[in-house]
Amino acid sequence: MQVNTLILGAGAAGMMAAAHAGPSTLVVDHARAPGEKIRISGGGRCNFTNLYAEPANFISGNPHFMKSALSRYTQWDFIDLVNSHGIAWHEKTLGQLFCDDSARQIVALLRAEMDRAGAQMWLQTSIDSVTHDGEFRVTLTRDGRSTVVTAHHLILATGGKSIPKMGATGLAYRIAEQFGLPLVTPRPGLVPLTFGDTFKPLAGIALPSRISANGPAFTEAALFTHRGLSGPAVLQASSYWTEGETITLDLSPDASLFDLLKTARQTAGRRSLTTVLSQHLPARLVVYLDDDLPKSNLADLSDAKLAQIADRLHHWQLTPAGSEGYRTAEVTLGGIDTDALNSATMEAKTVPGLFAIGEAVDVTGWLGGYNFQWAWSSGWAAGTAIAAGC
Ligand SMILES: Cc1cc2nc3c(=O)[nH]c(=O)nc-3n(C[C@H](O)[C@H](O)[C@H](O)COP(=O)(O)OP(=O)(O)OC[C@H]3O[C@@H](n4cnc5c(N)ncnc54)[C@H](O)[C@@H]3O)c2cc1C
Repeated sequence: MQVNTLILGAGAAGMMAAAHAGPSTLVVDHARAPGEKIRISGGGRCNFTNLYAEPANFISGNPHFMKSALSRYTQWDFIDLVNSHGIAWHEKTLGQLFCDDSARQIVALLRAEMDRAGAQMWLQTSIDSVTHDGEFRVTLTRDGRSTVVTAHHLILATGGKSIPKMGATGLAYRIAEQFGLPLVTPRPGLVPLTFGDTFKPLAGIALPSRISANGPAFTEAALFTHRGLSGPAVLQASSYWTEGETITLDLSPDASLFDLLKTARQTAGRRSLTTVLSQHLPARLVVYLDDDLPKSNLADLSDAKLAQIADRLHHWQLTPAGSEGYRTAEVTLGGIDTDALNSATMEAKTVPGLFAIGEAVDVTGWLGGYNFQWAWSSGWAAGTAIAAGC
């Protein structure tokens, strides 16, 4: 079989590209259904974009690479598309847009757009080998039979390594390497951090926090678990964390503990420090920290001592033992090096006709709809470039 464009991966980016790549487009995927990560995303409601998406919300070896695609297919373009399909949505928090009803509506939207464009899709199809000799020759197995598809354009859209149980394989990296494209070492991102048994007594505590790990600070909820730390602020910071580094937790991001303690000393100086702290922080956490806190009444603590205590609680330094890894990571950091790609078209600079989009590329968004926006923008950029006859 001969096609103009063969897309490997019927996820968010692959389906978006298929809807724009023009005639004679085939998408193949080994999964039973397309867009499985879309279906489970955002607790089943898909956080499909973010009102405030901009390049600063993405991590990449080249912080400028994503600018072209994000500015030419923006969050407003995707919101228009969602509106044109009559899908109701709402902003949950921090510009994060979710379907009112179900993430399946976004999968249906993409399938409808693909149908409108005349793109074909083969599911439950394994990708056995890829070669290039003027054209791309891809050997596939479908219904137990081996088939060769030749294509002028090949788009790598098989995503990253996160959540192997959902079909993630890292295939795009292997094909990219086969064609001599460099990789930025992939690693899990948006992932809970582990601390052995350290926080077992705190499991279940959630609190507002501000967390940073060698990058921007994120002010959102943190959650203590049996294995360590999770919650949005921790997931965000995890994308900036590397093994062995410390993270910094501010346990009271919205209020100065020094001011609170000083005020309490004036009005209730005979109260113990821990009693007063328990009014502002979860009591179980204060008990946990108790060994490190003076056993004095507030009246006995100087300004300098209160400032020292407050400072520790606003800058709690912790060294994670590790992360939960690809098993639970929402995304994969790193991937196909952006230096090897044209930022306007996603085409490989040294292999005309080969494109890479979505999570397979070294562009990773923050938590909050940014990763889907990258999938839409990069998929659109590759698809429209092919349709325009690049
Ligand atoms: C639990 C979870 C929740 C998430 N929630 C959100 C959210 O709400 N908002 C957000 O912006 N981002 C979210 N993300 C991230 C988002 O899902 C991804 O960044 C996005 O799906 C990447 O799109 P993609 O098309 O590049 O890859 P994917 O969507 O992963 O698609 C890749 C496709 O390739 C196929 N494939 C892989 N290997 C092979 C192979 N060897 N042969 C054939 N086919 C193959 C897969 O089956 C899959 O269909 C979430 C991720 C997870 C895991």
